[in-house]
Amino acid sequence: MKIYISADIEGVAGVVAPNQVTPGNPEYERARRLMTAEVNAAIEGALAGGATEILVNDSHGTMLNLLPDELHPAAELILGRPKTNGMFAGLEPDFAGVLCLGFHGSARRAGILAHTTNSFAFGRVRVNGLELGEAGCYGAYAGELDVPVILLSGDDAFAEEIQPLFPEAERVVVKQALGQRAARSVAPMIARDRLRAASRRAVERAANVTPFRIPPENGGAPYRLEIEMNSPALADLAALIPVAVRLDPVTIRLTADRMAGILGWINSLSAMSASLR
Ligand SMILES: [Zn+2]
Repeated sequence: MKIYISADIEGVAGVVAPNQVTPGNPEYERARRLMTAEVNAAIEGALAGGATEILVNDSHGTMLNLLPDELHPAAELILGRPKTNGMFAGLEPDFAGVLCLGFHGSARRAGILAHTTNSFAFGRVRVNGLELGEAGCYGAYAGELDVPVILLSGDDAFAEEIQPLFPEAERVVVKQALGQRAARSVAPMIARDRLRAASRRAVERAANVTPFRIPPENGGAPYRLEIEMNSPALADLAALIPVAVRLDPVTIRLTADRMAGILGWINSLSAMSASLR
């Protein structure tokens, strides 16, 4: 049984502040060790639950956060960027389930370091009118491959936000958000115990979890992406894409036939936005 792990860092126990998720300082070096240890705990649980092949994708920022020499040897690691399908790169229809570790709430919502893909560029993101964060967008992509998201970990606000999208998935809460940059966290060892146990349960019952799908729209392309950019200048930039439609000074609409295309638009806009930083 093949299991896929997408590893982010904002939702890891003990992580609350921007410097912890940004390379170039000692706090980040400590946080990436916590991130790697949570991934290893989930791998141990997945193996106990019957996983025979585990693929881990480093999904945060530079996508060079997990420490390869400390990663559980049962897993293979995808690292670096850019890569097609970003946070779920390498996911194939023959995987039994996806674990989303260290995830976080979406832009303009509650929770530690909440954002959607790019905190500089993006406000709210909607697909077919449904407001989604990273877990929702990527989870819908996995759903289109008929692969369910079976576990998500992060803070309590994130767990509440994604419950309607993934009602059958295991949700692991490792900290209570007291704001955007403050939390009451369990000890990292406790977070790992919870992840190990929940990962085992999730893998054992992966076949019974329904994949998340966004109902395609009738008329035009099946998927309609609307992004509220964080400034009119960012929307000016997005509007350079010939097929983009500007709905108002900050909102851009793009469409795609597949969720992979929606991810492609999101990640392309994110990369373009670097020119205005
Ligand atoms: Zn991240």
